[in-house]
Amino acid sequence: MVSRQRAAIGGAKQGLTSDVPASVRIVNISKQFISTDGETVHALHDVSLTMVAGEMVSLVGPSGCGKSTLLRLVAGLESPDAGALYVGDAPIAGPSAERGLMFQDPNLFPWLTVRRNIQSGLVARGVLAERRHEVDEFIRLVGLEAFANSYPHQLSGGMAQRAALARALINHPKVLLLDEPLGALDAFTRMRMQDEVLRIWQARGTTMLLVTHDIDEAIYMSDRIVIMSPRPGRVERIIEIGLERPRQRNGAEFLRMRAEILEMLHFAGNAS
Ligand code: ADP
Ligand code: MG
Repeated sequence: MVSRQRAAIGGAKQGLTSDVPASVRIVNISKQFISTDGETVHALHDVSLTMVAGEMVSLVGPSGCGKSTLLRLVAGLESPDAGALYVGDAPIAGPSAERGLMFQDPNLFPWLTVRRNIQSGLVARGVLAERRHEVDEFIRLVGLEAFANSYPHQLSGGMAQRAALARALINHPKVLLLDEPLGALDAFTRMRMQDEVLRIWQARGTTMLLVTHDIDEAIYMSDRIVIMSPRPGRVERIIEIGLERPRQRNGAEFLRMRAEILEMLHFAGNAS
């Protein structure tokens, strides 16, 4: 928590309006779908998870175990068959700008410049006039000053993800939901973007829930890693990552955790 406080002070020093992160509570969630051929798909079974405000948690697990479904539930894009979800004390009843989303595909509007993409949420909510000064702050935060007037097709993959990140953050989300956001980037850009997301997380203190297939990314980024079982997705295990930041990707403790988690995932895969 000390580092979190230091981070909040760091954010204030940068002159950015600070966010008020919130806790997230996922309580005994179950979710089924009916597939196109009429089969019942039991995506999530009795999933519970509590995140403290400002926490960074990763979700890892086999493909199809319901990670994206869980994020969509927190986003309010789906509703659970059983259980309940809360941000702070408020039940999640539908989508809201207080819960930002970022995907592998940056989903930028191709006909808008970087600046207009980033401010699109302010335009949609009719608050651009009073919040216009923040647009430059967020362009600077993600280091896209030189590309503010460029169009998405003129950006590299990493730059497009920076723009998507700024577009999500300008709404001052209490929670940021990241669904394999760096999955399409090459290894070097991906490592740089991990540092970028961490820097922003420390500066803004936003609660973040990150889905990733990359065990190294999960260990490098998170306070805790939630390992999910194959479908129907359940919380198999939660691993606390107590390593100091910045973390050494080839440190002995890092590599030990990596081996342990890989073993666990292998075991979870065999259990199905
Ligand atoms: P993950 O992100 O872990 O790969 P998903 O959450 O995308 O898994 O999906 C979990 C399961 O639920 C999969 O079997 C998927 O096909 C199914 N599913 C997800 N969304 C829908 C939907 N809208 N309709 C039908 N089936 C769905
Ligand atoms: Mg997914």
